[in-house]
Amino acid sequence: MEREFSAGGVLVKSIRGRPMVAAIRPRGRPEGVWALPKGNLDPGERPDETALREVFEETGVSGRLVEKLGDVKYTYTRRDGVRVFKIVSFYLLRAGRGRIGDIEERMRIEVDEARWLPLDDAPRLLAYGGEREMVQKAHDRFGS
Ligand code: ATP
Repeated sequence: MEREFSAGGVLVKSIRGRPMVAAIRPRGRPEGVWALPKGNLDPGERPDETALREVFEETGVSGRLVEKLGDVKYTYTRRDGVRVFKIVSFYLLRAGRGRIGDIEERMRIEVDEARWLPLDDAPRLLAYGGEREMVQKAHDRFGS
C-alpha cells in the first residue's frame, strides 16, 4: 500500500464573541462536504509549516501556530486503483490577517468555497470523522 503524508489546520477566530473555525468545500466532492484545509508536504517542509501554508492558500487567512492537535489516519483508493494509507497531522492555529475566501485564482481548482463555521456546529458539519475529532479538541481548548 502507498503512503501519503499531509498536514492541515484548525484555524480558529472569535467573531462577535463567537468561536468560529475555517472550513472549505473541496472541489469535486459531493455538495455539502465541509472539510478542513490541508495538503501535501513540500520537500524540506515541516508539517506545521505545511499547515500554515495550506490554510493560507485554501482560505485566504493567515494563522499563528498554537499547538499540535493530533493525526487523522485513513485509507482510500486512488483514481488509478492503488490503495493509499494516509496520515494528516492537524494543528490548532489562531487566525491572523486575511479575509476568508480571498484566495488565489489557481487555488479555485481545489476549493469551491471557504467559510467560517461556528465551532459549536463544526463537529456535526464536517464530513470526515477524524476531522470532526480535531475540531472537537479545538472546541474543548477554546473553553479553557
Ligand atoms: P490533500 O488535501 O492532502 O492534498 P487530496 O485532496 O489529494 O489531499 P484527500 O483529501 O486525502 O486527497 O482525499 C482523497 C480521498 O480520501 C477522497 O475520496 C476523500 O473523500 C477521502 N478523504 C479525505 N479526507 C478523509 C478523512 N479524513 N477520512 C476519510 N476519508 C477521507
